[in-house]
Amino acid sequence: MIEATVKQTLKKIGLNKKEKILVALSGGKDSSVVAYLLKKLGYNIEGIHINLHMGNYSEKCLEATKKLCKQLEIKLHIYDIKEKMGSSMCYIRGSIQQEKGLKNCAICGVIKKWILNKAARELHADKIATGHHLDDEIQTFMLNIFKGSPELNANTGAINRNAEKKEFVPRIKPLFYVLEDDIREYSKKMKLPAVYEKCPCAIDSYRIQIRDFISSLSRKEKENIMKNFEQILKKLPRQNNNVKTCKICGEPSRNNICRMCQLMKIRK
Ligand code: SF4
Ligand SMILES: [Zn+2]
Repeated sequence: MIEATVKQTLKKIGLNKKEKILVALSGGKDSSVVAYLLKKLGYNIEGIHINLHMGNYSEKCLEATKKLCKQLEIKLHIYDIKEKMGSSMCYIRGSIQQEKGLKNCAICGVIKKWILNKAARELHADKIATGHHLDDEIQTFMLNIFKGSPELNANTGAINRNAEKKEFVPRIKPLFYVLEDDIREYSKKMKLPAVYEKCPCAIDSYRIQIRDFISSLSRKEKENIMKNFEQILKKLPRQNNNVKTCKICGEPSRNNICRMCQLMKIRK
């Protein structure tokens, strides 16, 4: 079932087997299933893992990622945040949070996105594949609705809609239509090396509240939310007109200085 859904999603995206796809491997079940299925379906993939150095959790994630890549016989690139940026994610985040009350995931998410896009370009990857699934997408959709900003959903989809800007490596989500429970079950059935516990730093209480609410919904209700989401998506104008180049790092950005460089300025 999950294989058929992913196949259909990849067809919809129009993914080509000659393209080089860099799979963002966190060590968790979702990205492990993405790598496993893309490899099984004959796509040209390599993996990238960002070692965030968040204690024991990061060690387990790195271990699982290495095992998976060995098992799948795919090349693994490791971005070590301590080596490249001088300190662990916890430390980087802490120094930013002393100045600004940003949530853990808000900071970590910006940094990881920046690293992934840059690394993918340097590795000449055509696409980045991530492990986002249906539950994640519904969470984000609902969060943006509750915030009163549905337009923030405009560029999302199984392939992100920023793809026109050449500095952006398009991101694909092969599990966009797959529920988290099905991924967990599949990953266990296939005995994939993966960490099943949640990241200990994911303490955004509002998102957790939404996550718990969504977990309480039935399969049918979740699918209905997604159907509504896709209807609304068709009506939202794309938000890619204003993409500039960051004056500091040269990465694509909505502003003259990208969010990553803004965070790094606070860090100093
Ligand atoms: S859950 Fe949040 S803090 Fe943990 S790795 Fe993901 S973005 Fe970073
Ligand atoms: Zn920048």
